[in-house]
Amino acid sequence: MNFPRREIVDAVKKEYPKGTRVALVSMDDPYRDIPEGTLGTVKSVDDTGTIHVAWDGYGELGIVYGEDSCRKLPICPKCGKAYNEPPALSRADNKTQICSECGTLEALEAAGASPETKAEILDAIKSV
Ligand SMILES: [Zn+2]
Repeated sequence: MNFPRREIVDAVKKEYPKGTRVALVSMDDPYRDIPEGTLGTVKSVDDTGTIHVAWDGYGELGIVYGEDSCRKLPICPKCGKAYNEPPALSRADNKTQICSECGTLEALEAAGASPETKAEILDAIKSV
């Protein structure tokens, strides 16, 4: 087993604090079969650089530094939630990437929809 250097472990800890939402990119584990793209929440990073993740529906399994990989989900700057769907472009400046739910909200605001109409449409989208 080849453990990463201390600086690398510290960098991994900084990049993946507890509670970070991640998506699985690849896992080299013959005993567990977690599909690529499965989402999870970081529980901790240990001193070997392994990221311990609670995978949604698959229990806890670590991402071993240098062998497995995951990516952080982007955080929507508007609502502060992690999202996994393709981002929407904010109408406010045409360059900020926001979650699709906020994108829909902005579009409805721009169209002059009432708060009731907005809530109704968002509910309809979520239940699809
Ligand atoms: Zn959002």
